[in-house]
Amino acid sequence: MAVPTSTSTKNSKLKTANLGFPRMGRERELKFALEGYWSGKSSADDLLSVAKTLRAEHWRLQKTAGIDFIPSNDFSSYDQVLDTLVMVGATPERFGTGPVTLDRYFAMARNSREQTAMEMTKWFDTNYHYLVPEWSAGIPFKVDTAKLLGELREARALGIETRPVLIGPLTLLLLGKGVDGFDPLALLPNVIAAYEDVLAQLHAEKVEWVQIDEPILATDLREGAADAFRTAYAALTKTPIRLMLTTYFDAIGDNLSLAVELGTAGIHIDAVRAPEQLTSVAAALKPTQLLSVGVVEGRNIWLTDFSYASSLLSAAVAALGEDRVIVAPSSSLLHVPHDLRSETKLPARLRGWLRFAEEKLAEIAALGSADADAATANAAAIADRAAAETTVNPAVRLQLGLLNSSDFARASVYADRTPIQRAELGLPLFPTTTIGSFPQTAEVRKHRAAHKHGHETTEVYEAFLRTSIEDCIRQQESIGLDVLVHGEFERNDMVEYFAEFLDGFAFTENGWVQSYGSRCVKPPVIYGDVARPKSMTVKWTEYARSLTSRPMKGMLTGPITILQWSFVRNDIPRKATAWQIGLALRDEVRDLEAAGIRVIQVDEPALREGLPLRRANWDVYLDWAVKAFKLATSSVGNGTQIHTHMCYCEFDDILPAIAALDADVISMETARSQMELLEAFRAHGYPNEIGPGVYDIHSPRVPDTAEMKKLLDLALQVLKPEQIWVNPDCGLKTRGWPETVEALTNMCQAASQLRASSAA
Ligand code: GLN
Ligand code: ZN
Repeated sequence: MAVPTSTSTKNSKLKTANLGFPRMGRERELKFALEGYWSGKSSADDLLSVAKTLRAEHWRLQKTAGIDFIPSNDFSSYDQVLDTLVMVGATPERFGTGPVTLDRYFAMARNSREQTAMEMTKWFDTNYHYLVPEWSAGIPFKVDTAKLLGELREARALGIETRPVLIGPLTLLLLGKGVDGFDPLALLPNVIAAYEDVLAQLHAEKVEWVQIDEPILATDLREGAADAFRTAYAALTKTPIRLMLTTYFDAIGDNLSLAVELGTAGIHIDAVRAPEQLTSVAAALKPTQLLSVGVVEGRNIWLTDFSYASSLLSAAVAALGEDRVIVAPSSSLLHVPHDLRSETKLPARLRGWLRFAEEKLAEIAALGSADADAATANAAAIADRAAAETTVNPAVRLQLGLLNSSDFARASVYADRTPIQRAELGLPLFPTTTIGSFPQTAEVRKHRAAHKHGHETTEVYEAFLRTSIEDCIRQQESIGLDVLVHGEFERNDMVEYFAEFLDGFAFTENGWVQSYGSRCVKPPVIYGDVARPKSMTVKWTEYARSLTSRPMKGMLTGPITILQWSFVRNDIPRKATAWQIGLALRDEVRDLEAAGIRVIQVDEPALREGLPLRRANWDVYLDWAVKAFKLATSSVGNGTQIHTHMCYCEFDDILPAIAALDADVISMETARSQMELLEAFRAHGYPNEIGPGVYDIHSPRVPDTAEMKKLLDLALQVLKPEQIWVNPDCGLKTRGWPETVEALTNMCQAASQLRASSAA
């Protein structure tokens, strides 16, 4: 990170802003209110009143903290993109027309027996999921500002003036999908008219400032987008309302002159992800434009380095003057937990380095007022963290330093490994397997919870696990699967289970972050060097292996997935942490192999979501990400077969990286896309083995043998027979046993039909 040349400018008092606050509440009140309403246990009024109380509390917190620009309309009962669609009158017609009622709102957001909800996808490179706008001709665009104005007035009734937040028109359009090839930009005039109407209504309410979020400006813009931006903002800046054009998650980069030219009253930049852009943005601004500098990280939980942040702010002040600089978080605080107060079990020292949403408000205020006491305390905490021996493991550092190219490559190339594996594993053509987990029944979850909370002894719990594993193996044998798994009954999720064994990880009690709707996740915190003091999966895998003569597959979560689904330390590069996890997994892989496990799957469902927003940065990421995987998997002998699994099918653009993983077998999701992605594998000449998922595990529907056989026939058109494995799309943990047995039986039948027909 480039530190701007420091100046002697002293910030006396800068204005402060927040860009958005977590909605769930300190105790996840919103989650429980939503779920109570959905299940019919409480009324709509109950839900609305919880939501109102939370908003009031959160505004007061921000006011008390001393934030000048406090957001409104950042709250949502489900998702802010869906709220924006309601606001501009662009919700999908298949859910009904006319004003959107609470129940219609939730029908669009949530699957029900009657109807499939709107599609959901990740909000840029965060783990927050938004509902994807559906664009087509004939959308009414009937503006509804009830929520927007309602929140504004609610805050005013509390004596708090807010800066309403809107998702900008271009981000809204471009994050949506055109139905049947429809070009979303064709709707630009309608969307502009809707936003003009909205801004006029805000102006009538005497609103002075609006935060207009256009994070799409931090990405590579598609063709036509820049002109669309110009057209839109030429219209929107005619309003007397002052617009803070808000970008985050990466640098504005080559969109800088465009962003400035739009002529908004101010621009917000993410100075945590991209501090180097500060100087060029400050220099490019028009004389009246303000600069909001995001120096407090909105999406991670570490304390801000005040001395570094102040140097950025000083540089901005030197360029623009105090009146034109605002201190802000890098992005909305939506992506961090509510507050640290409820964390009583974290090591005190680590706690001193953490800042959740409430504590981040205090940081923003302290930086704005150049609070000397806060700066002194901050410097002490920063120094404490830098000096902490708990974050550095010399043995791990040494190991990392000694790595050479042989640590990242299998002993032989795939073509030489596969005959050995074939001979040793004794598998038929079109081998059948599963992705790892088997149904996590209520009973399984009950035992795990009871054990975790100390209500069940380890002895009883482990006896239960052994029975579950044995039952699962007998089921797989009678279904006729070729490569078996133990079922993953001991695992709560893909990351926490491993993190609990590893050094360098800590766990919060209440560090919840919204993933979508009422769903929250509690990512582990990687605060120090990662190391594996003892084996994590060998006991259960080895036990499973001892019960059957068929090959048993060991199941691990890959380094990138563990990294992506944790809060990652920011005092060493992400790559270093990824490689440390890779080393820890290598130890596990070696132990599994030594225990006689000859098939090992290392899941990497999050490889793609780690991609940087800008394509120019992809290669660097993919290079170290692929190496992290190879570090974990390359030490095994030629006869040991490495599998990997990914839960999606948009592979075309990263196929060379997928091939570079050099896994002997990759399984992935294809059933819903009718094997479309196989074409990409063929075009690339993908050499290793592939298990294209032949049925969708997301639904309880049991496809028949013919349906799966048809998909396999499609696969056979593009792949060589020896390349094909037969498996479901993903793990079976969310399914019930009866449908699982039925579907897998049909799947194995499809495989034997394929064997018969290809022998003929
Ligand atoms: N092995 C994991 C399972 O079967 C993989 C889950 C995933 O890909 N998300 O549950
Ligand atoms: Zn999956």
